[in-house]
Amino acid sequence: MSKIILLDCDGVLANFAGALNKLTGTKPSDVVSWDYFSTNHKGVMRKACADREFWRALDPVPGAKEGVATLKRYAKLEGARILVCTSPWHSCDGWASSRWYWLEHHFGIKPRDVIIGSAKELIKGDVLVEDNGKTLFRWMMVQAPPGLPIIFDAPYNQDRPWQYRSTWREGLADLIIAHL
Ligand SMILES: [Mg+2]
Repeated sequence: MSKIILLDCDGVLANFAGALNKLTGTKPSDVVSWDYFSTNHKGVMRKACADREFWRALDPVPGAKEGVATLKRYAKLEGARILVCTSPWHSCDGWASSRWYWLEHHFGIKPRDVIIGSAKELIKGDVLVEDNGKTLFRWMMVQAPPGLPIIFDAPYNQDRPWQYRSTWREGLADLIIAHL
């Protein structure tokens, strides 16, 4: 069976934290825990995220375009599948269409390759790249046979040790391919 590569969107492909940094005048290094924005800038964050334009205007994570291009070349040669797994922002009307637009616009990823839902642990794959340690841990515990969990390195997910921690600029695409 062909290999399945699962990629989270926010924090892995889309620079969600960077956009919130801009809105709140904070630096990436200021955000050292998952709940930072929800506790310190709850109002600003909620207002921004309720607007579909916020989601359409997100920048790609540095190196993500090149990394996904590398994975796509591999997938074409080897018959692998790349799927984006993304949790919806329920309070934003039009969120899903904004996400579909954004993924196709920046990465050429079609809606049929996007799985929208929060229960990522139920999605079968050979590898999951995720910036949320809790989500990654749940996926790792449920998958049988086990897939490879890779944490996308960020200042806010240092609370748990992971065997595989990387970013696009640190060679994430090659790390994924080496383990398939
Ligand atoms: Mg994420």
